[in-house]
Amino acid sequence: MHTRPDPEETMDDPQATETDREFLRATIAVATRSREHGNHPFGAVLVDDQGRVVLEAENGVTTEHDMLSHAEVTLARQAWRLFGAERLAGYSLYTSAEPCAMCSGAIYWSGIGRVVYALAERSLLGLTGDDPENPTMSVDSRVVLNGGQRAIEVVGPALEDEAAAPHAGFWN
Ligand SMILES: [Zn+2]
Repeated sequence: MHTRPDPEETMDDPQATETDREFLRATIAVATRSREHGNHPFGAVLVDDQGRVVLEAENGVTTEHDMLSHAEVTLARQAWRLFGAERLAGYSLYTSAEPCAMCSGAIYWSGIGRVVYALAERSLLGLTGDDPENPTMSVDSRVVLNGGQRAIEVVGPALEDEAAAPHAGFWN
C-alpha cells in the first residue's frame, strides 16, 4: 500500500533559502550521474561551514552490490572520517531525496548539524511504488534525526519537480 503525493501538498519548505536550492540542484546533478553510472538516481553533497561543497556521494547499491550503499550513508561515513563529529556540527548535508530511516540514523551518528532534502519520502514513494529495487519506507526523517540526544536542523521538501526528473522512467 502506498500513497501518491497530493500536488496540493508538495509545496517547498519556506525555510529553504536560495543557497539551499543551489546545493539541492547539485544533488540532483549527482543523482543524474548516479543513474548514468548504473545505480539508483540518488545523490548527496556535504557543504562546510564556509558554504563550500567538500564531498559528494552517489548511490552505489547496484555497482557495489551493497544494499546499504545509499548516498547519505556513504557521505556521512566519509564525512566523519575526514572531519569528525565536532566540526560536522557546522556542516550541512544536502540530498536529492529525504533520508530514509537508515540514512537518518547514519547522519545522526556522524554529527552533521543540518539536513536539507529535495523530494519528500512520500513523494519518492509515489515514484517508486512497490518496486522491489527500492521499497521506499514511510518514516518522517525528522522523527529519526531528532530522536537522539542532539537537535538536527531539517529543511525540506524543496524543488520536488526538479528532483523527480532523474527518476523518470526508472522505477517499475
Ligand atoms: Zn537511505
